[in-house]
Amino acid sequence: MEYIKKPHLRRAWAQIHLDRLERNLSKCRSLLPDGVDLMCVVKANAYGHGVGNIIPCLLGCGVEKFAVSNLIEAIELRELGVKGDILILGYTPPENAGVISDLGLIQAITDEDYAKKLSECLGGKTARCHLALDTGMTRIGLRGNAAELSEGVKRILTVPGLKTEALFTHLSVADSADPGDIDYTKKQIELICAVKSALAAEGRDIPVHFLNSAGAAYHPDSRSCLARFGIMLYGLKPNPALKLPVQLEPVMELKAMISQIKTVEPGVDISYGRKFTTERQTKVAVVTIGYADGYPRQLSQKADVLIRGRRAPVLGRVCMDMLMADVTDIPGAEVGDTVTLFGTDGGETITADELAEKIGTIGYEIVCGISRRVELIEDRR
Ligand SMILES: *Cc1c(COP(=O)(O)O)cnc(C)c1O
Repeated sequence: MEYIKKPHLRRAWAQIHLDRLERNLSKCRSLLPDGVDLMCVVKANAYGHGVGNIIPCLLGCGVEKFAVSNLIEAIELRELGVKGDILILGYTPPENAGVISDLGLIQAITDEDYAKKLSECLGGKTARCHLALDTGMTRIGLRGNAAELSEGVKRILTVPGLKTEALFTHLSVADSADPGDIDYTKKQIELICAVKSALAAEGRDIPVHFLNSAGAAYHPDSRSCLARFGIMLYGLKPNPALKLPVQLEPVMELKAMISQIKTVEPGVDISYGRKFTTERQTKVAVVTIGYADGYPRQLSQKADVLIRGRRAPVLGRVCMDMLMADVTDIPGAEVGDTVTLFGTDGGETITADELAEKIGTIGYEIVCGISRRVELIEDRR
């Protein structure tokens, strides 16, 4: 079969601003106390931004530590030339222990049972690992008080084939300014540090890490050997309602274009379900993006898009591949115009966080939800 070169469609695309990523990275680094290393969390295809774009840029900036959610993502990183640490934060079925070992990956260990199964599957090989402690998230990891946790860690240290390089935990409310939540975070941090001290007192020096983006921003702590930065690298806030100590720039902008414009009379129904009926003569633009591209259907009737530097409301339901927007008040709007779903156009900006808030979710879910149909286009302006 003849090879067909695919054109850039520019139907629905995301501009990935690598210059902004580089500046965000510097800002994240500036938050770290001396001796705290930076780990870039690039799970879920770098939060939807595309590892193919993000990884070469981060490698160019000297990043040596990465975290992903699973083995497939870890393999992808090795294929992209990552030679440094790759921590798998999620579950890897034990029968893949050989791959973890061969590629020098680091597996998160959730409990003694899992450690033993992984060990058996290693068949004499060794695997690097970090032990997860559940200090309050009630997700993965050993659970208990400091004494119980250090006993649990010591039992896992005896499992053959596992090379435990660190203990880690995950903070569940580090992005909150509520005094009760701040206290909760402090307790989580003190618990893992108490485990570290108890083990050190018996001559076992094992580094610990516990900072995510919000932790590094609001609870910086030199006892954490590294900070696992995710969302802030991409220029979004862990909590949009709270100010960050550094100013970040969103790395992704989501764009599409106008494929048709029609002017309709008052009383005309727009899109599936007849949920919107015009009340005036309306200039309707058909826009080349829909929920199959990851633009949430719940934004139907709720969001604006940007055209020619102005806001245009979404009319009726978002369809799978298209949506309709009201361009009645946008002079000169025409077929071929770029539409900004989130990002900046002229003096107007719509953020992923703004869209998230309208539908009761977080910016993380918006960018991670951008589907593979959306072209990811590197941009360094
Ligand atoms: C996803 C994840 C992170 C990154 O969190 P951000 O809020 O995006 O910085 C850090 N640690 C763990 C264990 C994670 O699962």
